[in-house]
Amino acid sequence: MSVTKDELLKIATSRSNELIELTAKLIRINSENPTGSQREVIDFVKKYLEESGIEAEELKANEAFPCVLAKIGNDEGPSIILNGHVDVVPAGDLSKWRFDPYCGEVTDTLILGRGTSDMKAGVAGILFAMRLLKESEAPIKGNVRLHIVSDEESGGQYGTKWLCEQGYSDQADACIVAEPTSNFTIEIGQKGSNELVLKAHGTSAHGSLGNYKGDNAIIKLTKVLQNIGRLHEIRGQFSLDQAQALENSKYIAASKLEMPGIENVIDHVTASVGIIQGGTKLNMVPDYCEARVDIRLPIGADVTEVDRAIQTIIDDSDVDGVEYDVTWKNFGNSTSIDAPIVQAIKKYAEEIWDIKVLPAYQWASSDARYYREKGIPTIQYGPANTEGIHSYNENVDIQDVINANKIYLLSLCDLLGIN
Ligand SMILES: [Zn+2]
Repeated sequence: MSVTKDELLKIATSRSNELIELTAKLIRINSENPTGSQREVIDFVKKYLEESGIEAEELKANEAFPCVLAKIGNDEGPSIILNGHVDVVPAGDLSKWRFDPYCGEVTDTLILGRGTSDMKAGVAGILFAMRLLKESEAPIKGNVRLHIVSDEESGGQYGTKWLCEQGYSDQADACIVAEPTSNFTIEIGQKGSNELVLKAHGTSAHGSLGNYKGDNAIIKLTKVLQNIGRLHEIRGQFSLDQAQALENSKYIAASKLEMPGIENVIDHVTASVGIIQGGTKLNMVPDYCEARVDIRLPIGADVTEVDRAIQTIIDDSDVDGVEYDVTWKNFGNSTSIDAPIVQAIKKYAEEIWDIKVLPAYQWASSDARYYREKGIPTIQYGPANTEGIHSYNENVDIQDVINANKIYLLSLCDLLGIN
């Protein structure tokens, strides 16, 4: 008799200590990006898979950022990708931590350390799910493919983006990215992020003759930047079947961010001036200044409308010699709320946590988009205590880690025909 879904759940429960230990071990390997090395953590993942009886393959576009791929199952059903990154952002100012960021300490309720929430607990959850399926010889119809990457925190070009470009995501029917979310939400879409560069050209002169001679490029650019907020008026376009997820997203943004009107971040363009550079010397009227603006496009945004609006802002600012440069390459992306992967994760997250779970769109972006660009229904769901992410004193709830693993495991059972 082959193993059933209920039996797998019992095995996961009885062996949950192994999952906690795996998470703690991953935390104790410092894999800071860009300041550290990914070698040790990648070797650890490969060894863990091999000890689980799963063949692991290392691939790399860049020596410093290897990926680990693995697969279990057959070609007689759907193919599901599990994705996670093992790099972490630097710990930063150590005096702001209440504990050693790489201690991996396990308290009564928490696991402590850099990367617990983002996202080694999620990685542990998908690795452990694969191990349980493999060791129990679960009769899966189809396969599970693992994509572990190590450069997510520096843009993903040697990780998920590269894997997708090289065809390693081909023929996949769904993808779970174990990035941190709250337990009550499944990320099924996100905004696209693009860089706008505004360039002002002026004429230099001696600083002592400012106001009288020369044409100050910094002053010109600030006039344009004062109006850049007009881009926030542009909305995305959502279809009728996206209405529920849009409503969920606005509700989540309002309750998490707690600022009046903040829910509009989901379906409106945002433009944040991040960097401004101009001038050469204090006693010279600057002849050049540029600003780099982080533009986030909601799902369905019309880029020709955004382009037109940028030009209108420049024209209305009543200055000459200002031009802009933007290559639109990152768009809002989403997975249907009705996709089997979304419904499976929702069903088990609700069952295990006994709460209502809302599939929703995020205001930020992540590696999930590379899979969606390939037409693969993709979700993000993973254990997290969000306040420590990319900050200090990062931690994760043990219960969250255990439950996320079970949710992955049971969803895989549903999708791969294990009853
Ligand atoms: Zn992450």
